[in-house]
Amino acid sequence: MPPYSGKPDRKTARSLADDRQSLRLRRFSMAALSAVVTFLMLGTLYMHGLMEGRTILGGTMAMGLGLAVFFIAFKRGWNLKAKDPSLTGPMMLLSAAVIFLLMFDSATARATMGAYLCVIMLFGVFRYPTVVLMKTAIIFLCVYAGMLGVLWLRGAPATDMAMDMGRLIVMACVLPLVAWVGGHINSLRNTLHDRKVFFQTIWDTCKEVVVVMDGEGLIRYTNPAMKTVFDRDPASMIGMHAGSLQPAHVDVTHRMLHAVQTLEGPGAKASFETEGVRADGTRLPLEITLSRAYLEGTDMVVAFLSDITKRKMAEDQIKHLAQHDPLTGLPNRAMMHERLAHALALAGRQQGAVWVLFLDFDRFKLINDSLGHKVGDIVLTTMAARMVEVCRETDTVARLGGDEFVMILSETRGGKLSESIIERLMAKLARPIRVNGHELLLTSSIGISVFPEDGATVDSLVEHADVAMYRAKQNGRNNFCFYTASMNDAAIARLELESDLRNALQRDEFRLHYQPQVDVASGDTVGAEALLRWQHPTKGLVPPAAFIPMAEETGLIVPIGAWVIRAACEQQRKWMNDGLPPMRISVNLSPRQFAETDLVETIQSILIETRIDPTYLELELTEGMLMSDVDLAEKRLAQLKRLGVHLSIDDFGTGYSSLAYLKRFPIDVLKIDRSFVKDLSNEDNSKAIVMAIITLAKAMKLHVVAEGVELLEQEEYLRKACCDRIQGYLVSAPLPALEFKENFLEKGALQAA
Ligand code: C2E
Ligand code: MG
Ligand code: MG
Repeated sequence: MPPYSGKPDRKTARSLADDRQSLRLRRFSMAALSAVVTFLMLGTLYMHGLMEGRTILGGTMAMGLGLAVFFIAFKRGWNLKAKDPSLTGPMMLLSAAVIFLLMFDSATARATMGAYLCVIMLFGVFRYPTVVLMKTAIIFLCVYAGMLGVLWLRGAPATDMAMDMGRLIVMACVLPLVAWVGGHINSLRNTLHDRKVFFQTIWDTCKEVVVVMDGEGLIRYTNPAMKTVFDRDPASMIGMHAGSLQPAHVDVTHRMLHAVQTLEGPGAKASFETEGVRADGTRLPLEITLSRAYLEGTDMVVAFLSDITKRKMAEDQIKHLAQHDPLTGLPNRAMMHERLAHALALAGRQQGAVWVLFLDFDRFKLINDSLGHKVGDIVLTTMAARMVEVCRETDTVARLGGDEFVMILSETRGGKLSESIIERLMAKLARPIRVNGHELLLTSSIGISVFPEDGATVDSLVEHADVAMYRAKQNGRNNFCFYTASMNDAAIARLELESDLRNALQRDEFRLHYQPQVDVASGDTVGAEALLRWQHPTKGLVPPAAFIPMAEETGLIVPIGAWVIRAACEQQRKWMNDGLPPMRISVNLSPRQFAETDLVETIQSILIETRIDPTYLELELTEGMLMSDVDLAEKRLAQLKRLGVHLSIDDFGTGYSSLAYLKRFPIDVLKIDRSFVKDLSNEDNSKAIVMAIITLAKAMKLHVVAEGVELLEQEEYLRKACCDRIQGYLVSAPLPALEFKENFLEKGALQAA
């Protein structure tokens, strides 16, 4: 490999060209000097009377003139326009012409000149290929032979002619040999030159830093990439120890030298990653590939140093993406796992504690469904930032997905964990958020498990915190709850129930019970509410409160709710087919069902299939359902109303209905909640509320149904207050279809008859 000498005048192509020109001039000066020496020798011949003075004078003048022209050409740079800027060919021709001129003079001169001709031929050895040299040799020989012919014709002495012929034969043998060898040398030289240029280009343009060092680690050669990568002058690095390219604490040179010892064979390589240091002290990641080379009689180590900053950055970015949540930038589940495992290991060694907080926002889905995902995303990022603010640097906040977050709080030497952190966190999260003109209030439920009491592994701690979070939700949300062992049993039971619930529809385990609604004035049964029951294979009849919230959460309420409507309509059809008069049956709708886009089509197709007049179907909605998104509720209620079904508001008085909104909804019935009816007998406050609701309903031309009427005095009060209908145990508990038919439908039909 061509070494990098480090001389500044070789740095550019221009200086390289200047160098070559000065080399040509030097070569020319040597040729001129040899011409002067030749003429001095000829002067000696002249003094011995072997040559004529005028011949030498003519030759000297011709030679001098020719050399002067060449000198000017080199100086002015005319030679650079020629194919061969060294002008070797023309100079050889000039020398040959002068020599032939001198050769005419005497046999002795011809002998000397013959030798000179061979020398001149040698000039071309490094310049021309074999063919050109061979042609030149033939021309020389022909001119020489021609010259002898002229001499012979002029009557030269026979002895001189014989000698000249001998010389001609010797030259005829020597010159082609010189041409042949010279041609080879020339092609070798050209190959070497091309290779030199080739490797020099690679050496100069290579982006990797190449460092050739000896067995001691001293740098012998290095390429210009040293400047771009390490910002160090390559020339100044020659003779320095390779260790100077590394930070003070890292010494990979010894490792490198050792690694090289183990390499066998010329192509063997070893590579590793380490750190390098630039001239200004900044660090850079490097990949070093080592190989051995034999150079200048010793074993050398060739190291290729690649700056892998970009690759490292890309790797870090990929790692970051794989370990972080793209929305909030917080660690994701994988990273949370890693951090918690680390925190547990540390706490285990230091006998410290770790809290795992499982956080879930209350009713976050409502924000997503009603205001859109963009708003949901803004809320999540705001909440994530608030969580991070509350935490210390050593803590971790991670997003598991959706609105589920995990916080890892470790006990540090400085501070013990206390509940006040959680209270602070909840207060901060509960502050209102303004998004797109909406002021949103979002509370959170937090479950906490503690290492080591509640688990020793990442999975058990997270799972237990999740169980505790669920309990916090059950306790009324906006709450936090520490994990206790008994929660686990409840969670397992819940899981079992959930899996049973998923199969209940296929296994036909649902039933409908019917509770009559009686007209207060006439005492007639004017309607019934269909209430869902789950006939569980082992648990018996499960009340709706035990599974409806779960069905709502899992989304199973949608198919179950559709089943309820269908079953109620089919039952109605059967009773009608039995000749019984039609009666309005009300079914409860869940919030999830109400939000379904195809709710109206589902109900319509059920009504058509069962051939039930829509006016005999009543849908019970709750205030919360209508108030969470008033615009959507208005649209949906209008669609349902167009269908012809009755609409009622269930559990009225427990929500926070705005009366102004209530006017916008096409409602037919208000159902006074059981809690007010229950207190009618002994609480004046409830009496006032019930009276107010009835007055309001009448003003809005709505029918009123009082739920949960158990006592006669309650019925008495409601009658006085002009309540339209009552529903409750006083009349009957919800009954299976057959009993309801016997006790109410058939009796009612008989009475009517
Ligand atoms: P709800 O719609 O307010 O239904 C009335 C509840 O009060 C029923 O409880 C009924 O059995 C009970 N009840 C009626 N009269 C009295 C009384 O005099 N005293 C007392 N203490 N209770 C009385 P149930 O059947 O357990 O249903 C509870 C709730 O489950 C329902 O409240 C309703 O919100 C929901 N639900 C029932 N069936 C369905 C359904 O098919 N779909 C949906 N989404 N929810 C349903
Ligand atoms: Mg109801
Ligand atoms: Mg109710």
